[in-house]
Amino acid sequence: MTIYLNGSFMPIEEARVSVLDRGFIFGDGVYEVIPVYSRRPFRLAEHLQRLQHSLDGIKLKNPHSENKWADVLYELIARNEPDDQYIYLHITRGVAKRDHAFPNPPVPPTVFALSNPLTTPPAELLQSGIACITVADNRWLRCDIKSIALLPNVLLRQAAVEAGCAEAILIRDDAFLTEGAASNIFVVKNGKLLAPPKDNLMLPGITYDVILELAAANSIPYEVRRITKTEVFGADELLLTSSTKEVLAVTTLDGKPVGNGRPGAMFARLHPLYQAFKRDVMRK
Ligand code: PMP
Repeated sequence: MTIYLNGSFMPIEEARVSVLDRGFIFGDGVYEVIPVYSRRPFRLAEHLQRLQHSLDGIKLKNPHSENKWADVLYELIARNEPDDQYIYLHITRGVAKRDHAFPNPPVPPTVFALSNPLTTPPAELLQSGIACITVADNRWLRCDIKSIALLPNVLLRQAAVEAGCAEAILIRDDAFLTEGAASNIFVVKNGKLLAPPKDNLMLPGITYDVILELAAANSIPYEVRRITKTEVFGADELLLTSSTKEVLAVTTLDGKPVGNGRPGAMFARLHPLYQAFKRDVMRK
């Protein structure tokens, strides 16, 4: 596997980062995950915009222009296999003597990207849907920043795994839905798609946006608003989205069936629309 680190491409075995890197010491950095279909990054401009938002959120200068990012990422894709990949891109505040405050003067950021083979959910999972648990959202108040400091998300996902589930669905203040530990969550009720608002309490998912665009373009009724915990438990369907999972139906919640316990009509509508959209983008 060939990776990109601080301006050079190299085999992953040769990549070295200092133990004083602020990403290692403080989790002081941000990241992106970008799916690549047929060697083309999906929604690259949107991912780079979100990266800029994350960098602004932690007051770190973007090391590259959009064009330079595109060059780096296309070269990374070309140097790796297979045609469908996903890029993990990671920027930290660099290497400095340990001190919470930013290094002054600033030091060069650590810029790292790798590309892995992309495996999208298998047919069995699309047919069965996944099981989730609900967990209290105990994260900070800047969940809109794609921070590499993921300990809360790690613990929340682990709680799901220990309960035999695929994902944790997060409930803030014992009152309303925010998102999943590493995904966005939609509720379906009476044929309408409900989405939590993109605020500081959730990551603005790129897949989330695609789903709402597809709903708008296909006359699927939807509403973006706070969704109560009661609405989550009373949902006809629950949908999970992320760049690597695409769209999945949540069919069990806290051990009980969601709706009739099988992927429902909204999933049956949106999943093929998403697949068609993906293929269309690949052709362009
Ligand atoms: N929320 C969180 C906390 C995430 O980590 C992710 C992505 N892994 C998402 C939502 C989904 O975002 P995207 O659709 O851009 O992958």
